[in-house]
Amino acid sequence: MATEYSQSANQKAVRWHPPSYDIRVESVPIPKIQNPDDAIVKVTLAALCGSDLHIYRGHGGVDKVHTCGHEFIGEVVALGSSYGRDVKGRPALYSHLNIGDKVVSPFTVNCGECHVCRLGYTGRCPEGFLFGSPALDGGQAQYVRVPKAGGTLFNLSDSSTWSSALNEEEKRKALTDIADSSLLMLADILPTGVFAALQALNHPKVAPVITGKAWPICFSPDQVSGNEVSLIDEDKIITVAIVGLGPVGVCAAVSLLDALATRKAPFRIIAIDPLETRREKMKAVYNAISDSGKGNGEFIVQSIEESKEAVKKWTGGVGATAVLEVVGNTSALTLAYDLVRAFGVIVSVGVHGEPQMPFTGRQLYNKNVSLDFGRCPARAMFPLAFDLLVKRQDVFGGVGQPESLVDRVVDFSQATESYRAFDKGEIGKVIFDPWK
Ligand SMILES: [Zn+2]
Ligand SMILES: [Zn+2]
Repeated sequence: MATEYSQSANQKAVRWHPPSYDIRVESVPIPKIQNPDDAIVKVTLAALCGSDLHIYRGHGGVDKVHTCGHEFIGEVVALGSSYGRDVKGRPALYSHLNIGDKVVSPFTVNCGECHVCRLGYTGRCPEGFLFGSPALDGGQAQYVRVPKAGGTLFNLSDSSTWSSALNEEEKRKALTDIADSSLLMLADILPTGVFAALQALNHPKVAPVITGKAWPICFSPDQVSGNEVSLIDEDKIITVAIVGLGPVGVCAAVSLLDALATRKAPFRIIAIDPLETRREKMKAVYNAISDSGKGNGEFIVQSIEESKEAVKKWTGGVGATAVLEVVGNTSALTLAYDLVRAFGVIVSVGVHGEPQMPFTGRQLYNKNVSLDFGRCPARAMFPLAFDLLVKRQDVFGGVGQPESLVDRVVDFSQATESYRAFDKGEIGKVIFDPWK
């Protein structure tokens, strides 16, 4: 049953004003269809995210008032003329999207039909925009306009539109059972966490440890090693440091644990944050994960000071095989460089600002460090993230519990205060209900 939607009325929206720290809830016009590929989504829940704080603090180089937010879930209430079974020349996803469908959006627009999208690099579609930016109003509103909606939105009402390791019945059951506050994690934090973990595990620098074969034989599955030095058990233990335990860092840890448990790979993981509240959250999450999701390895949570000593001790001074940098500033990158081994990889999914990198080309050369930077292609990551969301409801299911990633659900009257408190680290992840 589709919701009534009127383009002529006003709506409530959370708006950012320049130059910084100025969030207002305002009455603005409900968005209209502007292009044939557009959809209008009635937002049922929208989340506040760490990367919203870059603009909030005035670090984004932004000077235009706009509606905030890039994480939202809702219902399609209007579609442009590109949609429908009879429309020719549009990709299949456009014919599957209907008014009344429940959808969750990745944090960027992606067309779903260009070379970049076909390769799965959806976060960098040439037609893409970031929601909640001057270029595109965000989802912390009662309604949001979604350009290229057929390529962008995940259609939760039609489980045939994405692949999954789950069978159709399991998928359908998950979609009925899982709360919207949990499904909303698919907009950004869970795919980004999964992305960080997989970028590290699939990186060529990690291959000797994962395959148990020395470089470069590790890339030739058919080549049997001859007189090369064989790896001993100790060499096959992957050591990963996670720098930054906000919601994305926690999602990365959960994803990494799951991937290593599935592969039955031995590991040592150190999760690092300077804030005790975040370290306590990470510990509570780890404790909530069932044994099958924890795999065969050590997992410790430490402060910055403790972490260097721990990695040194674990690895005989060599360093971590991979470091996931989930903060996006120079001190996090400096720590990542200090922790990573020679021939290691730093995977950085934090949003970085203008400062220069805190290491020189010579430092990278001298350690043979690989840097893997950038935005998660959330649309492409959706199937993997969805399956993990279903599997890890012990962590991702609740709100306000010690192990929950979502701290609270509030109405828009608390938006300004929520930004302030979230920025100060006084509260965890907040979700807005625009209709409360
Ligand atoms: Zn986000
Ligand atoms: Zn594209």
